[in-house]
Amino acid sequence: MRAAINKMIPLSVVDGPGCRTAVFVQGCNIACAYCHNPETQRLCTGCGVCVSQCPAGALSLSGKQVIWDETVCTQCDHCIQVCPNYASPKVLYMEAADVWEKISKNIPFIQGITVSGGECSLYPEFLTELFTLAGNAGLSCFLDSNGCVDFTKHPQLMAVTDKVMLDVKAWDSNVFHRLTGGDNRIVKKNLNYLAQAGKLYEVRLVCLDGESSSGLAEDKDVDMEEVIRGVAAEVTPYLEDFKLKLITFRNYGVRGKMEHGKSPTQDQMEKLKELAVQCGFKEIQIV
Ligand code: SF4
Ligand code: SF4
Repeated sequence: MRAAINKMIPLSVVDGPGCRTAVFVQGCNIACAYCHNPETQRLCTGCGVCVSQCPAGALSLSGKQVIWDETVCTQCDHCIQVCPNYASPKVLYMEAADVWEKISKNIPFIQGITVSGGECSLYPEFLTELFTLAGNAGLSCFLDSNGCVDFTKHPQLMAVTDKVMLDVKAWDSNVFHRLTGGDNRIVKKNLNYLAQAGKLYEVRLVCLDGESSSGLAEDKDVDMEEVIRGVAAEVTPYLEDFKLKLITFRNYGVRGKMEHGKSPTQDQMEKLKELAVQCGFKEIQIV
């Protein structure tokens, strides 16, 4: 099974517990207004816009396919900046076995692997194969997901997945749709399913300040207090079983209407943390 791989980080300490190899797939099923790596959202269409603009001559076109020469690429990322399609030409289509071969070199240094994106759950068969290989080698297997693919429909993947880090981007379904283009009924279903199955490692909330979030939704701002209260009420019996990560919005890498959006202040973040404590969350991290 193949997946489009955007990049791999051999040793990461920010993608789950301990030291892990992180794999980032290309392609996403939603498009968040505040996405900080929008170049992972879509697959390359082969339009060729980036090819002539590569200062290193690392790109060429073969029919409708862009060929990326990794050996001469200087990683300047100019191709990503000029791509009109929120894609990247620096993507490799790899078999799960080939990804595993690269990861296995890190075994002495890592406790597990985490697959992120883009949206990792768009590649369930690839993940099942990769996680089976990693699990057999004693590594823990984590997904970092936006929760917009129904995990209950992928029991084989869930059987080899240890934990999931789940984004909850808005609680109100209309606001969620306007922020991301997606449907948060699936996110809420996954939240319940993962909590009950003991597979929720952390719930991640990207915290916006009120001013930056206004305009994302026509009738309502993205209300972080509503998200915290909503998650707490939805999975009350399990609040001690997973971490709540409050992620400070930063506009680095963001394109479109939020590219000049302001970050919430530390004071605002601490107030959200206080609310989370009142709602019953036990382990809360601000990043
Ligand atoms: S990052 Fe893109 S534009 Fe820059 S050298 Fe590599 S392929 Fe060329
Ligand atoms: S990466 Fe973007 S600009 Fe380059 S060929 Fe693909 S779609 Fe076109």
